[in-house]
Amino acid sequence: MREDHLPLLHCIECKSTHPSSEPIWRCSCGGRLLPVAGPVFDRAALTGRPFNMWRYREHYQLPRDAAPVTLGEGFTPLTEIDVAGRRVHAKLDFLCPTGSYKDRGSAAMLTQLRAWGLKEIVEDSSGNAGASIAAYAALAGITAHIYVPDSASAGKMAQIALQGANLVKVPGSREACAAAALRHADSTFYASHNWSPFFLLGLKSAAYEIAEQLDWQAPDWVVTPAGNGGVAGGLYYGFRDLVNAGVIAKMPRLALAQAVNCAPVHAAWLQGLQYVPAIDKQPTVAEGIAAAQPVRGLEMLEALRETNGVAHPVSEAEIWAAFEQLARRGLYVEPTSATAGAALESLAAQGVIAPEERVVLYLTGSGLKSTDTIVRHFATRL
Ligand SMILES: *Cc1c(COP(=O)(O)O)cnc(C)c1O
Ligand SMILES: [Zn+2]
Repeated sequence: MREDHLPLLHCIECKSTHPSSEPIWRCSCGGRLLPVAGPVFDRAALTGRPFNMWRYREHYQLPRDAAPVTLGEGFTPLTEIDVAGRRVHAKLDFLCPTGSYKDRGSAAMLTQLRAWGLKEIVEDSSGNAGASIAAYAALAGITAHIYVPDSASAGKMAQIALQGANLVKVPGSREACAAAALRHADSTFYASHNWSPFFLLGLKSAAYEIAEQLDWQAPDWVVTPAGNGGVAGGLYYGFRDLVNAGVIAKMPRLALAQAVNCAPVHAAWLQGLQYVPAIDKQPTVAEGIAAAQPVRGLEMLEALRETNGVAHPVSEAEIWAAFEQLARRGLYVEPTSATAGAALESLAAQGVIAPEERVVLYLTGSGLKSTDTIVRHFATRL
């Protein structure tokens, strides 16, 4: 492995830099790491490349000679549908191999972890990231210990265990689960989707694809669920690469959907804060975004500032209404993903998103993951 192919990682807290030649997941000061700078996006280089996320591989800043750990993820359909009384482009990322967009991050991260020669990793997740990392770790021949809160969906837990990971159920909150994983990570490696710079780099592929599928036009808006900030950060950094290279003319505005019952980013945005405040979290059906203390909170606030974006809270009733509306269009997504549909509905009704504006609705996870929750909610009709 040649050192000159490897990115330098910089700490967002103390600004020190670190080589990525050895396994590392955070700075010695405890800060989160991001890569220093990537190559300039070059459209001409794409000719003849495969139609999956590896089409853009130089932008994940992985060792050049590392074979990708891949199931062919990416290039999911961008489908026009009628929703919220208008025509929008739905990005069907729930069609990724394990049923959620997290496969983009897992493929990139596991490629780096295998290149580092790691044999054993620890991760914590509310379900989808764990299921995705379990699949790609199996593919890479790496043993994965996946910590989940014992309240996680039964289907997601089954997926994690049956794809070959060691499933560890932790009683209590999502935050308690993360703390338990971190303790175990002392003796292995913390391959956290929320901390890994390589996971985030892989998520940029969704932005590149959306732009390419729109013939290199930026949409006016991308509406997406926001939990720990991977999706929002990936879209933001991805579109920024394209703007910096002059490939698209402007940044799309990001609309970040949160459940009213757990909306710390909305609280920060509303109050104009530079940090994400502590909130009192209530239960929500949007389990994939129930992050009371989002790991990538600062990135989400930056993305909102830099894209002139909005954060928007949606109620449990609005989430279920949007879930049904999408299902009746043939898009059977998770309640977590339906938060984006609910936010679009309400932002369009308020005139924040104008009728003539071009909107991408980013659909993150498959409804088949949440069968237990969905069946419980609609029990009287089934
Ligand atoms: C993880 C997840 C999200 C939230 O993504 P963040 O990167 O944590 O903001 C949204 N939807 C689904 C289905 C997820 O699994
Ligand atoms: Zn630091």
